[in-house]
Order: sequence, then structure tokens, then C-alpha cells
Amino acid sequence: MKYKELGTTGIQLPEIGMGTWHYRGGVEPLKAGIELGATFIDTAETYDSEEAVGEAVKGIRNSVFIATKVAPRNFKAADLIRSAEQSLKRLNTDHIDLYQLHWPNYLLPIAEPMAAIEELVRMGKIRYIGVSNFSVCEMQQAQAVLSSNKIISAQVRYSVVDRTVELGLLDYCRQNHITLIAYSPLDLGMHNMRKSDRNDMLGKIAAEAGKTRAQVALNWCIARDVVVAIPKANHVEHVRENCGASGWLLNPEQLKMLDQISFRQRGALESAGWRLARRIGQRFGKSI
Ligand code: NAP
Repeated sequence: MKYKELGTTGIQLPEIGMGTWHYRGGVEPLKAGIELGATFIDTAETYDSEEAVGEAVKGIRNSVFIATKVAPRNFKAADLIRSAEQSLKRLNTDHIDLYQLHWPNYLLPIAEPMAAIEELVRMGKIRYIGVSNFSVCEMQQAQAVLSSNKIISAQVRYSVVDRTVELGLLDYCRQNHITLIAYSPLDLGMHNMRKSDRNDMLGKIAAEAGKTRAQVALNWCIARDVVVAIPKANHVEHVRENCGASGWLLNPEQLKMLDQISFRQRGALESAGWRLARRIGQRFGKSI
């Protein structure tokens, strides 16, 4: 497993971590990943997987980096502090390594959750602050109201078939030494990826490189300097395969071939539409 520095923290993060949305694998897949060096686990208060993560790291807590998230409905200061306390309890730990705002809350000024999150840092309950699904502008606004901390990570959707972040956010992360945590790096499953990869470029390169399609897709993500990926796998064999995506490099010719896969890239207008839909959802209590 290869490692990358998390922001400018000096912490070395494995370039392949483990996601746990819809995770139903129990402790074994997580333990298998940790043994192979995937010592970075991502969860959230809404995933119903924090207990499993806590169970998997029992006895080895300090060798695993745990990231969790607070949902926008809990961004009011008292609610955010309570959410963190509840996550700590479910994770069975006394600190969260990375606490992330899961999505922007369009109904509340960003200063409120950022002040509460800084209070948690002062209390020693969380070590680092991250955001998820924030645009560049939203990240800048969030950073501007922090008094003595830096946003060190941005968790966003990124894969060989969804390259929206290449329209600006990836460069912003590079320029500001922010780690980009790529979620859904397998497009929620290889069957989805296959739909965009009609000429089976992943299969061709996998055969040439002696790897699997999933390993090629993950390696493509982590070939970018500031990017680490967090595939989710309920199955131990998938976890092992995913860990094998690190430690080697696709050659420039293979990277060029992967550019032939049709990929999504949400432009400014479409992104604005998504945000508007989320804002309306939050207004009427219909989204997280
Ligand atoms: P993903 O990791 O792209 O895909 C997960 C699917 O891929 C599962 O069905 C899994 O199967 C399958 N899979 C895993 N490894 C495989 C392999 N080697 N070969 C073939 N299939 C494989 O999707 P995701 O869960 O959406 O994203 C990963 C993580 O990112 C989440 O778990 C979560 O932690 C995070 N995330 C964050 C947000 C956010 O808003 N911040 C949103 C989505 C996701 P099995 O489970 O059967 O092994």
C-alpha cells in the first residue's frame, strides 16, 4: 500500500481506504483491509455503520484513521456537538480523526457549524476538519469563517466515469494542499461502470497490466497526486482486490486509453440545478 500526506498534517493516509455506505459486511472485510494497509475508514452518522467500524478497530484504534460525517440537519451548534458525541459512542472511541460536513446546509449560515466544529477540535474530540459535496466557492466560504483550523480534505464523487471535479475542484485542492477523497470510485459497482465503458477499455488494460478492471479504475483515481479513494466492499475478496490497486502505475498510454471511456462532467448550470433541488429538499425536510 502506498501512502499520501493528508493535507499538510504530516499524517500518511493509504491511497486506498474503505468506505462504509450500505456496508453490511460485519468486521471481517474491514479487518482484512486494515491488515493490507487500508488503515483509513470512512463512515457517517447516517450510514448505520459506525458500530461496525468501532468493532473492527477494537484493540488497534490508534493504527486506524477514522473519518465520519455530520448531516446538514445537525449543523446547529448544539446539534452538531451532540452528533459528534453520538458518533464517538457508536465508534467506541474518544476521538474522531476527521470530522466532515456531509453536504452544505443551504438554510443555515456556514459560520455556525464551523464554530461548533472548531470547539470540538479545542475539546480534543476531533483532530481534523473536512467537507464533503462542497463546491469550491462553498469551501472558500467555510474556510473563511474558521479561526484557527484549516479544511484539510474534500470528499467528492470522482471516478474514471465521473470527472466533474476536474472542472475546478481538483485544481483548488492541489493549490491549497487539500486531500481529495474520491467517493464512489467504482461508480457504485462495476456493472454501472461497464455501461459507460462500452469498448471495455478497463478490461483491455486489466488484461495487459495483469490486474482486474476494478484495480485499473481505482489506480486511475489515485494516479492523481492529491487523491485517495474509498471503495466500499462487503466482501473480503473485493477488499483484497481493491488494496491491490495501490503500489503500481498505469503507463501514459494506458491512461490515454482510459480517456476514451465516456464520462460524466456536470457543468456549472447542472451543478446549480442539483444544488437548487437539494436546497428545496432541505427546506421541506426531504433530504439529509
Ligand atoms: P463504490 O465504492 O464505487 O462501489 C461499491 C460497490 O462496488 C459495491 O457493490 C461493492 O460490492 C462493489 N465492489 C467493491 N469492490 C469491488 C471489486 N473489487 N470488484 C467488483 N465490485 C466491487 O460506491 P460507494 O459505496 O458509493 O462509494 C464508496 C464510499 O464513498 C461509500 O461507502 C462512502 O463511504 C463514501 N460515499 C460518500 C458519499 C458522500 O456524500 N460523501 C456519497 C457516496 C459514497 P460488495 O459490497 O458486494 O463487495
